[in-house]
Amino acid sequence: MCQFPVVDFTCYLIPIELHYFICVKGYLGFSGSVFTGIFCVHCNSNISSNLRDILEHCRLCSFMQRTDVLKHKYVCYACSYATYYNGNMKNHIRIHLGDRPFICKLCNYTATRKTHLNVHMRNHEKKLNGIF
Ligand SMILES: [Zn+2]
Ligand SMILES: [Zn+2]
Ligand SMILES: [Zn+2]
Repeated sequence: MCQFPVVDFTCYLIPIELHYFICVKGYLGFSGSVFTGIFCVHCNSNISSNLRDILEHCRLCSFMQRTDVLKHKYVCYACSYATYYNGNMKNHIRIHLGDRPFICKLCNYTATRKTHLNVHMRNHEKKLNGIF
C-alpha cells in the first residue's frame, strides 16, 4: 500500500515516521520525487529548515502530545522523541537533518537508509522473541 518502495531513492531522504505519514496518509506536502522541506508530522505544517525555527516549533506546536509537562517541553517534529532540554532536542533534530535521519525508537541506532533501520528493527524483534 506504500506508494514509495523501500528501495526508492526518495525514501532515503525522509525520516521514517514522515515516510509513514506521507505514504499512509497521503500527505500533500510531498511533491514529485524530491522532498522539498521539513514538515511537522504532528500538525501537518511546513517548518523552515532553520534549526531555531524547528526548535521553536518543537516547543510550541499544539498538536504534539505533551502528557508530561517537563519531559514534553520539546517534542520532535518528526517522531515521538521528547525532552526538557533544548540542547538535547537540538542534537536530536540534527540527526533528522543529517545523513542518518532514520532513528531507532528502542536504542540509539541511527541509519542512512530506511532499509538499514528495518533490518535493525528485526534484530530487536528477534531479541524480544528470545526473551518471551
Ligand atoms: Zn507541529
Ligand atoms: Zn525525532
Ligand atoms: Zn535499536
